Amino acid sequence: MLVNIGQLATLRASAAGPRRGASLSELGIIEDAAVLCLGGNIVSVGTTKDALCDRWLKKNRKKVTEIDCGGRVVLPGFVDSHTHPVFMQPRLVDFEKRIAGAGYEEIAEAGGGIRSSLEGVRQASKAVLADKVLHTLSDLAKHGTTTVEAKSGYGLSLESELKSLEVIRAAARQWPGTVVPTFLGAHVVPPEYRGRSQTYVEIVCKEMIPAVAKAKLASFVDVFCDRGAFSEKETATIFGAAAAHGVGVRAHLGQLSVPSAGFVDSLVQHCRPASLDHMDYLNEADLPALAASDTVATMVPGANYFLGLSRYPDARRLISAGVAVALATDYNPGTSPTISMPMAMSLACTHMKMSPSEAIAAATVNGAWALGLADCKGSIEPGKDADLAVFDVRDYREIPYWFGVNRCVQTIISGVAQS
Ligand SMILES: [Zn+2]
Repeated sequence: MLVNIGQLATLRASAAGPRRGASLSELGIIEDAAVLCLGGNIVSVGTTKDALCDRWLKKNRKKVTEIDCGGRVVLPGFVDSHTHPVFMQPRLVDFEKRIAGAGYEEIAEAGGGIRSSLEGVRQASKAVLADKVLHTLSDLAKHGTTTVEAKSGYGLSLESELKSLEVIRAAARQWPGTVVPTFLGAHVVPPEYRGRSQTYVEIVCKEMIPAVAKAKLASFVDVFCDRGAFSEKETATIFGAAAAHGVGVRAHLGQLSVPSAGFVDSLVQHCRPASLDHMDYLNEADLPALAASDTVATMVPGANYFLGLSRYPDARRLISAGVAVALATDYNPGTSPTISMPMAMSLACTHMKMSPSEAIAAATVNGAWALGLADCKGSIEPGKDADLAVFDVRDYREIPYWFGVNRCVQTIISGVAQS
C-alpha cells in the first residue's frame, strides 16, 4: 500500500477509447492519496484518510507492506510504446559526423545509420544481446517505465531477426515489467539486397513473417515507411502478410517526408494499425480519418532533439483535430539514445507546446492504447495492473520541468517495489 501520496495522477477513464482533445489533459488527480495493491493488481484508490479507516485494512494492516510516499507525486508507470533496444554499439562516428554537418540520409549513404548496427547484432551471441536488453529494461524501470514495446530490426536476415526477437523474449522473462515484442524486419533494405528491395520485401513476407508468427515471437509487425526505406506500396504488402498471419501492425511514418495524400486514410481503413509513429510530416486531409480511428499517432521528440532538427511533430494540430497522441522515447543507437520518458515529455512541452498534463497522459494511458493494453495498463484504477512510479517532486508539472535528471525514486511493478 502506498500512502501519503501528495498528488496521485490516476488517469482514470472519463470516456471510452484513447484520450483525445480536451480529455488528454484530465489527470484525475487525488491529493493526499493512497493506493492498495493485492496480488499484482490495484484494488483500491482514494485518500489516505479513507484508506486507513477501511475495516479490512485495519484488521490486516500488519500483513500489508506500506510505502510512505511523504507527499511525493505518483503516476501510472510509463508505457514506452516505441523502442529499438536490440543493438550492440553506440553510433559515435555518426554522432560526430552529424555534429560536423552531415544529414540523416548522407550518413546512411556512407554506410552509417541503421545498416552500421547490423554487423554487431548478426555476430553477437544471444546471451550477450539478451544481457544488453535486460540492462536497458532495468534502466527503463529506474526512470519510471513499467511497460515497453521492443522492436527487432538490426539483424535484417531471417536468422538474426529471429535471434533478436528471441533475445527480447529471454530478457523479458527476467524483467518484472511488461514487454511487447515487435518484428521490424522492414527497417531498411540490408546491403546485400541493395537495389533489390522487392526481393527483400518478398523474404520479409514469405519467410520472416511466417516464421515469427509460427514461433509467436511478436505482437506486431512494423515497417519503416519513408524515403530511403520502404515505399507505401511495399508497406501495404507487408501489412497484408502480417494480417494473413494474424499479427497486428504499426508503422514508422512521416519522419522524413510527407505521406501521399490518402495513404493514412487507406491504412487506417484497411489495416487498422495500432499506431503510426513519428508523424513529423502529415497531410491535413488525413486528419479526420485518423481522428475517427483508434490508431494512435506516437510522437518521438527525442529523435528530433538528437538529430538537431528545428522541426518537431505538430502536436497541437493533431490534438485539436481529435487524433489520439502518445509519446515514446524511440530508444535507439542512431537517432534517440535515451530511455527517459520524462525527457520525451519535457521536449513535448518545450518544443511541441503540449501541456505537462497532456504529456503525462500521452506517456501513460495513450501509450497503453498504442500497444493494445489499455485494459490493464496506463492508469491507476481498481482491477488494473499495479504498475506505478513515485517521483521526488511535490507537483506533477515538475516531472517534465526538471530535464536531464531522474526524479523517479521508486518503481512498483505488479505490486512489488523494485530496488
Ligand atoms: Zn523507431
